[in-house]
Amino acid sequence: MSELKVLSPLSGQVWPLERVPDPVFAQKMVGDGLSVDPTDAVLLAGCDGEVISLHSAGHALTLRTPSGIELLMHVGIDTVTLKGEGFHPRVKKGDKVRVGAPLIAFDIDFLATHARSLLTQVVIANPERVTAWQRASGWVAAGKDTLFTVVVTEEEAGASASSETTVASEAVTIPNASGLHVRPAAVLASLAKGFQSTVKLQIGDRQANARSVTAIMALEIGHGAKVRVVASGPDAAAAVAKLAAVLAQGSGDAGCAPAPAPATTTISLAAAPPPRRRSDDPNLLLGVAASPGLAVGEVVQVRRAEIAVREAGAGPDEERRQLARAIAAAQGQLAALRAQLHAKADPARAAIFAAHAELIADPDLLEIAESAMAKGKSAAFAWKKAVTTHADRLAGLRNQLLAQRANDLRDVGLRVLSILTGEEIRPPEYESGSILIAEDLTPSDTAALDRSRVAGFCTTRGGATSHVAIIARSLGLPALAGIEPAALEVPGGTAVVLDGNKGTLRLHATAEEVARIRRAQERSQRRRQEDLAHALAPAVTLDGKRIEVVANIGGQKDAPQIAQLGGDGVGLLRSEFLFMERSEAPSEEEQFEVYEAIVRAMERDHPLVIRTLDVGGDKPLAYLPIPREDNPFLGERGLRVGLDRPEVLRTQLRAILRAAAFGKVSVMFPMVATLGELRDAKAMLAEEAASLGVPPIPVGIMVEVPAAAIMAAQFARDADFFSIGTNDLTQYTLAMDRGHPRLAPQVDGLSPAVLRLIAHTVEGARSQGRRVGVCGGIGSDWRAVPILLGLGVDELSVSLPSIPAVKAQIRSLRLDACRQLAERALAAESAEEVRTLVPDPDEEPTLSQGS
Ligand code: PEP
Ligand code: MG
Repeated sequence: MSELKVLSPLSGQVWPLERVPDPVFAQKMVGDGLSVDPTDAVLLAGCDGEVISLHSAGHALTLRTPSGIELLMHVGIDTVTLKGEGFHPRVKKGDKVRVGAPLIAFDIDFLATHARSLLTQVVIANPERVTAWQRASGWVAAGKDTLFTVVVTEEEAGASASSETTVASEAVTIPNASGLHVRPAAVLASLAKGFQSTVKLQIGDRQANARSVTAIMALEIGHGAKVRVVASGPDAAAAVAKLAAVLAQGSGDAGCAPAPAPATTTISLAAAPPPRRRSDDPNLLLGVAASPGLAVGEVVQVRRAEIAVREAGAGPDEERRQLARAIAAAQGQLAALRAQLHAKADPARAAIFAAHAELIADPDLLEIAESAMAKGKSAAFAWKKAVTTHADRLAGLRNQLLAQRANDLRDVGLRVLSILTGEEIRPPEYESGSILIAEDLTPSDTAALDRSRVAGFCTTRGGATSHVAIIARSLGLPALAGIEPAALEVPGGTAVVLDGNKGTLRLHATAEEVARIRRAQERSQRRRQEDLAHALAPAVTLDGKRIEVVANIGGQKDAPQIAQLGGDGVGLLRSEFLFMERSEAPSEEEQFEVYEAIVRAMERDHPLVIRTLDVGGDKPLAYLPIPREDNPFLGERGLRVGLDRPEVLRTQLRAILRAAAFGKVSVMFPMVATLGELRDAKAMLAEEAASLGVPPIPVGIMVEVPAAAIMAAQFARDADFFSIGTNDLTQYTLAMDRGHPRLAPQVDGLSPAVLRLIAHTVEGARSQGRRVGVCGGIGSDWRAVPILLGLGVDELSVSLPSIPAVKAQIRSLRLDACRQLAERALAAESAEEVRTLVPDPDEEPTLSQGS
C-alpha cells in the first residue's frame, strides 16, 4: 500500500465527474477522478511520472506514476475534434516529468469559443488499483492544492501495467478493388480519431496506427487482404466493432473507381505497376492514357525547383509554433480551395483537396517533424524531412495506386514548406499551345494550369488513377501518365501530338497528322464560335417560349463579359468572394462599392440577383467561427448564419439596398428551410430599407432544401421568385454529401427524385404567378436543359462560358417535345435512366460542365 497525492494541474473550480457533460467521463468509463473548470491555461503535472500517451490533438495526456497509476488528463470536452488547434503540448511521449512541470499549454480564449466545454478531467485510468479516495472541492490552485489523494495497492506481480483492455476483430477481407488507398485510409483514420482507444490495423505481423493515413497506406493492404482491427483503451470494443464494419463495407470506397472518370477511360487497378510501355519508333513515346482528348502543340519541359531550407532552428518551442501556424494556414488554403471547388460544382477536385487536409494532419508525419524539431532542427527542415521520408516510403510501394499518393504528400508538403519559408510557389506562365512534360506535376500545379494556354501534359510518373489525372479529366485537359523517361529529353519547342485516348505522344508529327487533328479541333471550335456569334440572339424555343439565360458569377471581374456572351443578367452572384481570404468581414461601404461596380458594368435593364453570404458547412470562414458541429451540412449554413449574426446580414442587406439605386437588383437568401427564416430575413430587409429611406427590392429564395421545394406554394406567397440550387437540393434529397469521395459521383441532379421536387416547386410557384430559375450545375448540362424546360423552368443561370451553348441548344428545342421528355424523366427509376432518355451526346453541342 502507498499513498499518492495528485496536485491540481489547473486552477479553477472543482466539479464531480458525474456533472461532466460527456457520458464516457460522467459514467466513469474512462476512470475515476475529478474535473476542473480552468481559469488558467497551462496544464501542469499533478505528480511525477512518465508521459505514456499524448494524443495527437494535444488535448489529452496520460502520465504513469512510479507506482503504476495512470493519470489521464483531458482538457475540455470534445476537444479532440479541434485536432490540436489551440493546444501546445510542452512534452512528448516518453518524457519523464516532475510534479508541477508544464505539460500542455492551451489557448483558453480559443477553446472557450470552439469547445463544447472547458471542463478538464483528471482521472485515474486504472482505478482498480485504488482503495481509498480523498477528494478536494471548491476552488483549487494549480500546482499548489491537492486535487485528490488516493491509497494505491501494490501492483500484482505479472499484472499488466495498463488496465486497458485489448480487443481484436475477426479478420476482415478487404473488398476494395484498389485496396486501402488514400480515401478509404482517410475515412478509417478519421473514424479511428473519434475513439479514445489506440486503434491499429494488423495484417500478418505488421501493424499501423489506424489514425494515420500514411501508416495505413504503408501497410500496402490490397484487395482481398485479411486485416484485423486491434484496439486498447476505454472504448476499444466500440472502436473495433465500428472500424471492422466500415472496413468490411469498403471504408467508403466499395471498390469503385475513386472518382468520376469518363466512361472511355480504362483504369488499371492492378496491385503492381504495369510494365512501362516502350515504343520501337523513335518518334513515338508511349504512356498511360490518363485523360482523353487530342492535343497538338509544342513541348515545354517543366522542372520543379527545390525549396531550400535552413537546418538549424531557433529552439524547439519557437519552431513548433511556426510549424503549427504554417499547418493552420495551409489548412485554411485547402478549406478555401475546397469551398471554391464546391461552388464550381466540382466535387471530384474538392474531395482531392479534402484528402490533402487529412494528409497534413497525419500524426505520423507530425511525429517525425516533432522529433527533428526537438533535436534543434528548424520547422522547415523537420517538415521537409518528414514529408520526404513518408513520400519516399509510399513511392517505393509495389501497389501502384498507393505509390501515386506520394505525389499528393509532396504537394501538401510543399504547400506547408512554402508558407514556412515565405517562398511563393508561383504557377509558371506558358505560351499558348504548350504541351508540358514533367517527371510529375502536383495536384495543385495541375489545378492551377491555364487551360487556354496549356494544351496537354505528360508525366513520367503517375497513372490513370492519380489525383493529377482526375483533375486533368475534370479540366478536359488531354494527359498521359507514366510516359517513357525519354520524354524528358525531348527538346523544348518540338511539335508534338498528344493522344490522351491512346496514350501516345508523337514527336515531329507529320503535317498531315497535325492537319487532321486540327481539322477535328476546328470543327468543334467552329461550333463554339457559331454559338458565340449567335450569343446575342434570345433563347427562344422553336415553338416560341423565351427562356432567360443568366450568369452565375463569383466576382466583379466577370460582370463585363455577361452581355458579350449573351447573358440576360446575373441569376446568382455568389457574394462569398467578398468574404473569403481575409481576416475580417468586409464593411458596408466596401460591399456597396463592389455591388455598385457590378451593376454599373452590366446592361441597365439586366437583373442582378445578389445572394447573401452562404457560408458554413463546406464553406468555412475563419473570422465567423461556427462551433464545430457533428453534421455541419445540417447545421449553421447559409441564411442560418446570417440570422444568427444579424450584424453581418444587416450590413450586407444595407449594401445591397444602396446598390439597388443603380439597377435592377434583387436579393436572394440561401439555404432557406422554413417560412420563419424567410420572414425573419425579410423583416430585417424591410427595417434596413426603412432606415435608409430606400424602396423595397424583390426578394427571392434559393430552393435547395427539400422542405422549401415541398412547401413551394406556401413560400410563393412570401418570396417574389425562386432559384433552384440543384447542387445542394440534390445532396439533401439523396442524403449524399456533394463532396463525398465515394458518393459524389452519384449526386446527380437528374435523379427523378430531384426532378420531382423541381416539378413541385414550379407548380407551387405558378400558384402565385412566381418565376422559377435553376442555378445549380445541371442548368448547363445539355442533357438536363430540355428536361428543365419541359418541367416549366423560366430561367437557367449558368457559368459564363456555358451561356452561348445553352442558348444555342434552347433555340434548337421544341417545348412540347421537352414536356414529353420531362414526363418520361419524372417516371424514370434512376438518374442513369433519365440520362439515356436524352439523345446521343455526339450529335449534340458539348457544353462545359459545372457552374
Ligand atoms: C446550389 O446549391 O445549387 C447552388 C447554386 O449554390 P452553391 O453551389 O453556391 O452552394
Ligand atoms: Mg447551394
